Amino acid sequence: MDPMTRRMILAASAAGSALGTVNALAQGSGQDGNRGNVPQPIRGNEGARDMGPRSIDVDRNNPDMLSPPATDVGDVPNLKWPFGLSHNRLSAGGWARETTIRELPVSKATAGVNMRLTPGSIRELHWHKEDEWSLMLNGNARVTCVDESGRNFISDVKQGDLWYFPSGLPHSIQGLDQGCEFLLVFDNGAFSEDSTFLISQWMAHVPPEVLAKNFGQPESAFANIPRKQLYIFEAPVPGPLSADRVQDPYGQAPNPFVFKMMDMQPVKCPGGSVRVVDSAVFKASDNIAAVYVEIEPGGMRELHWHPRSDEWQYYIAGKARMTVFASGENSRTFDYQAGDVGYVPQTMGHYIENTGTETVRYLEMFTGPRYTDVSLSQWLAVIPPELVKNHLKLSDDTIAKFNKKKLVVVGSNPDRGPGNQKQPG
Ligand code: MN
Ligand code: MN
Repeated sequence: MDPMTRRMILAASAAGSALGTVNALAQGSGQDGNRGNVPQPIRGNEGARDMGPRSIDVDRNNPDMLSPPATDVGDVPNLKWPFGLSHNRLSAGGWARETTIRELPVSKATAGVNMRLTPGSIRELHWHKEDEWSLMLNGNARVTCVDESGRNFISDVKQGDLWYFPSGLPHSIQGLDQGCEFLLVFDNGAFSEDSTFLISQWMAHVPPEVLAKNFGQPESAFANIPRKQLYIFEAPVPGPLSADRVQDPYGQAPNPFVFKMMDMQPVKCPGGSVRVVDSAVFKASDNIAAVYVEIEPGGMRELHWHPRSDEWQYYIAGKARMTVFASGENSRTFDYQAGDVGYVPQTMGHYIENTGTETVRYLEMFTGPRYTDVSLSQWLAVIPPELVKNHLKLSDDTIAKFNKKKLVVVGSNPDRGPGNQKQPG
């Protein structure tokens, strides 16, 4: 039985329902009756069956919105956006969609773009004010960049590799034989993928005689430049990297703009693992820090917050939920799955719990050169126990068991075991 069904049955049982009622619940609104597993807005003896109209798929993906934990309260703003609800810009050669403050208004610090390029297709030569961090999600590509000292960088990237193009530096991305899909992250929530500086548009909006003078060649040499932007366009798959290398009299950019994240040894935790990639290990990434997290079924990214930056999340696999405590009487729970963006404003407390049966994989993205966090349990373990006891009325034994080191990802709830994390009612 999957956790959702278990939760529903627990909820129904807690309400004193007979087995017949559970079956009635599972039949849902009729439009979906034979598929079962229909979540209902019922929590213990509160709530009532949804009579419809409703979207079963939306409810299935957001069970903690339909029936929130009783601890949720107040008016925390929306902290979830599925890329599937973003406008998708289709071109011959691929597509791109973005999640910005226009889609997710709270996400002031960070914007994301999900892009696809078919084999050979090119994301046009361009630059922008924001720093660009990227993870290759599938396939392979060739990237180029030139720094302010005129030094070039040309490299191939495959699944699991990162790249980083600092603010203002010109770059390109071209799909190789497999084509590719990747995630781009920018250190400004108002970023727009549609208003970057494109080589085609600049060249088309400079007087032809200026182009001639600039390059020291006749105007006729520029007669065929495109009049409209290229953005994403098809091209032949390039040859081997060795054949694409260009000798640069200024040399190569000294800090590689590419980082092989999956070659990095993960830090093992009781309920999963983490890879922290900030400027300490990926020198070029001096204004965006990343953590790649894996949470095993039953595991949970422990209660914590980030003292110096908002957190922008991207979910790659699995099902998870997060409750964000926004100070005062404000706390709200969201559910996430592959393709979703999550967001946590700076200093707000949160956890991320695996609510499914497969490993949750997601990215935590931060602005700034270094990753930082504060762990609730580690904090309480390294201050005087009497102080903690006076606040929380915990036993000496409980306080003594708090770990003095950050666990980061904890294992299953000792009372419940994997796949049964949520209390009914
Ligand atoms: Mn870019
Ligand atoms: Mn966090």
